[in-house]
Amino acid sequence: DVVLGVLALQGAFREHLEYFRKVIESHPQEYSQYNFRFIEVKTEEQLNSCDSLVIPGGESTSISLIAERTHLLQPLMDFVKNEQKSIWGTCAGLIFLSKQLKNGKVGQKLLGGLNVEVARNAFGRQIDSFESKLDFSTFIRDCTDFPTVFIRAPVITNVLHDGVTEAKEGEEIIYSANDYNNKAPIEILYSLKNYHNIDHDLIVAVRQGRRLGTSFHPELATDDYRFHKWYIDEFVLKGL
Ligand code: GLN
Repeated sequence: DVVLGVLALQGAFREHLEYFRKVIESHPQEYSQYNFRFIEVKTEEQLNSCDSLVIPGGESTSISLIAERTHLLQPLMDFVKNEQKSIWGTCAGLIFLSKQLKNGKVGQKLLGGLNVEVARNAFGRQIDSFESKLDFSTFIRDCTDFPTVFIRAPVITNVLHDGVTEAKEGEEIIYSANDYNNKAPIEILYSLKNYHNIDHDLIVAVRQGRRLGTSFHPELATDDYRFHKWYIDEFVLKGL
């Protein structure tokens, strides 16, 4: 079996499961040799049965709090150390998966499975949410117009090639308590250029080994399952 889990503590977990099901249903021939199982992950036992884990969007402070209360924080930290597991964090999930965080809430915990620094709510108050068709064809074949949805989204403010960075004066940074250091190279998959005249690129998708982080919500792209298919093919099945 290939077990695709989605962390189901809070947020948009059902949508991810539905999108994965749609990918498999719509390509019966292509996936006929695999027996996929799709599970909502709420316990340590369920977590450890997964080949892949998606950490969905929602509210990163709530996900962190519920994980602590349900004793899932340490199992999740152990899970991210296993480099055979595929893990994808979207939006709040990207925040939770990262190694360091700006604008975090005091006490908020991070899993430390992806060597990036992230900033929460990075698009400002005026621009709470927006949709944009983005050209992902450099990494997803022929995908030139993917409908992305950003909702109070984070951006990746730093790629941490050699461990964490120190806070500058006046800057508050939250660090993951996980001592794990992912050694795989980090690949920037997509940056927004000249977004509202911001003079630097805003990184919104990165890959590190079998780890993927996206600021946006591909599980809210109406009837478009290409991103989820790419994740299954490139992160879960490759090398199985
Ligand atoms: N702003 C949320 C957070 O900080 C993320 C929003 C989302 O997942 N859509 O966790």
